[in-house]
Amino acid sequence: MDSHSQVLERLRTGFRSGITLPLEFRRTQLTKLLALVKDNEEQIVKALHQDLAKPKFESILSEVEIVTNDLHHAISNVATWIQPEYVPKNLATKLDDCFVRREPLGVVLIIGPWNYPLQLLILPLVGAIAAGNCAVIKPSEVSSATDCLVAELIPKYLSQDCYAVVRGGAEETKALLQNRFDHIFYTGSQAVARSVVQAASVHLTPVTLELGGKCPCLIYGRINIQAAAHRLVWAKYFNAGQSCVAPDYVLCTKATRDALVPALTNVLEEFYGKEPQKSPDLSRIVSARHFTRLMKLLEKTKGKVVIGGQSDEDDKYIAPTVLVDVEEDDVLMGEEIFGPILPILTVEELEKSIELVNRKEKPLALYVFSDESSVVKMTMENTSSGGFCSNDGIVHMTLPGLPFGGVGASGWGSYHGRWGFETFSHRRACMLRGWALERLNGLRYPPYSDDKLKW
Ligand code: NAD
Repeated sequence: MDSHSQVLERLRTGFRSGITLPLEFRRTQLTKLLALVKDNEEQIVKALHQDLAKPKFESILSEVEIVTNDLHHAISNVATWIQPEYVPKNLATKLDDCFVRREPLGVVLIIGPWNYPLQLLILPLVGAIAAGNCAVIKPSEVSSATDCLVAELIPKYLSQDCYAVVRGGAEETKALLQNRFDHIFYTGSQAVARSVVQAASVHLTPVTLELGGKCPCLIYGRINIQAAAHRLVWAKYFNAGQSCVAPDYVLCTKATRDALVPALTNVLEEFYGKEPQKSPDLSRIVSARHFTRLMKLLEKTKGKVVIGGQSDEDDKYIAPTVLVDVEEDDVLMGEEIFGPILPILTVEELEKSIELVNRKEKPLALYVFSDESSVVKMTMENTSSGGFCSNDGIVHMTLPGLPFGGVGASGWGSYHGRWGFETFSHRRACMLRGWALERLNGLRYPPYSDDKLKW
């Protein structure tokens, strides 16, 4: 295997050659990336099943389709995105050409997590390619089957002078981060993000951080409890709750909770049957370490399990679980749960729920379920989060027109669609000026006088 410095030198030479700049090169690479995903759909689905027992349907929806949609969008729009953006002028710049030029940053590093191991590598790569960069891609070693597959396929489809996959775990990534990159795009946990930022600071490298946090779901006012239960269960237990935008906890009144719990019971049975462990539609916990982490949370919580609670270590299976009587200081309300465990907290007033949310770090997504637009408006206007969605979960991130990213501790920067292109572009302020109006310019040259200021 090439050493990191050899890989970087190859990509730097590729970038300096200017090969990534023409529109046609970018479009060709994006088209090849699209072919990579389409040609290998079956293998991708298989690898994701090996890593997480991901159901085929979920793999197609959240790894294949989301990526191919973004690729189609970029291929159709990159010609527009790279156009200079002319800006309004004033009297002093009337004869100049004043525009913003989007330029690539150089050689960028993309570090991915294990939960959507294909999507979260390829979507940033789309932005990087569209913006004309070279890229090193570092998949998560935890989702090892997808890691292997990505490392095998990328060199087969994309220019090896411009794109490379580096594999490995924490130590390998730390070593990789010692190198100078022109941008680092990191998706993963807040803890690791701190060391990524530290490493980046040595070279003053700009960083995009796509992190997690606790995404609340507030359910207030009149509510279609059946629809709410369906959408909540789908968003929570998709990928066994291992989604950065999964609803992490529910806030509602006692009356809503009493209606919600039976509705959740019914929907869980409808989705996964009486024995969810036998359902082909439920993913598994990614690793023994994460299984143990989740089981410890269940052991320590003072909340009461009302649905699920069963587990099987050998199968890395945790049943879809719902708890009530969970207090704000419970262990389940500390770290991001990132598994199929849903605590319900009862708070009688929406205002108090909003206060509770605002006492915590700003989440990556915030959900509100209500038939009443005043509830939705009040929640949206009095909270902050990376994304916001009413009466559903996760779906807001599927639209390339909406920026995807966190705020505060849930992340820095955003991507998807044009937003990814912007993240990987430098917006260069350009003013092209000739020699005209030199007498007018004389007004700003010394010797200065108060009369000149009157102009
Ligand atoms: P992680 O931080 O453990 O790993 C992410 C990447 O960092 C992996 O490639 C890993 O090899 C590397 N890494 C691990 N330790 C490292 C170290 N000490 N130094 C340098 N690199 C290191 O995260 P994870 O467990 O793979 O992912 C789960 C987290 O990611 C959750 O918090 C989740 O919310 C978050 N996440 C966020 C998004 C988003 O888009 N905002 C998407 C998915 C997951």
